[in-house]
Amino acid sequence: MTKKKLIAGNWKMNGSLAANEALVKALVAGVGTPACAIAVCVPAPYLAQVQTLVAGSPIELGAQDVSARAQGAFTGEQSAAMLKEFGVHYAIVGHSERRQYHGETDEVVAAKTAAALANGITPIVCVGETLAQREAGQTEEIVKRQLAAVIHVNGHCISEIVVAYEPVWAIGTGKTATPEQAQAVHAVLRAQLHHAASDHAAGIRILYGGSMNAANAAELLAQADIDGGLIGGASLKAPDFLQIIAAAS
Ligand code: PEP
Repeated sequence: MTKKKLIAGNWKMNGSLAANEALVKALVAGVGTPACAIAVCVPAPYLAQVQTLVAGSPIELGAQDVSARAQGAFTGEQSAAMLKEFGVHYAIVGHSERRQYHGETDEVVAAKTAAALANGITPIVCVGETLAQREAGQTEEIVKRQLAAVIHVNGHCISEIVVAYEPVWAIGTGKTATPEQAQAVHAVLRAQLHHAASDHAAGIRILYGGSMNAANAAELLAQADIDGGLIGGASLKAPDFLQIIAAAS
């Protein structure tokens, strides 16, 4: 399989003009010619700044959310077409923080995925179970339900998405899924994708996210169905993010 791994940073609501400049300049200076794809998903106000900073480098620009709507009276939202004007290549959709704090349902996540795809933006669709759901033995059921909603609305276009398995209990907690735990869920998701898009399933990237860092990245990325990482905290430190990129290269 020739698919390159993808290492995507999710800055969440962090950064400033000065901090972003220092971080991205250090990444551009240190990244060399990586064998993996790289993205930074930045807060919306900084898209223009980071678009300029990554220009000419292998680092692509990502947004952290996208509206399901095309335009109109949706205060506070950004449409996929607007993001596209700033060179946005990826948009995270359905991050657990959006599901938890903004009430995003599986249906909304599916509609956001469709809006991104319709505008040539690659959605990074996040799925993952809470600790209570894992302990109740519901992991497989939950992630399959979340992905099924996206498949239902997007049909064969799902060959163009990136999936991120992010166990909620591992996000920002320092608790990482073991490589075996992560691989087991990735295999379930791969099988589901295979069912929906047989010829293309092997080419769809499934990222792992949840306290991935410089120390644990190599072992996670070595798993058969882990095609990259979605990285929160460690993406804010240039040396750490560069080490994860090196582990994927
Ligand atoms: C995330 O926000 O998608 C994430 C995985 O965060 P962290 O790496 O900090 O756990």
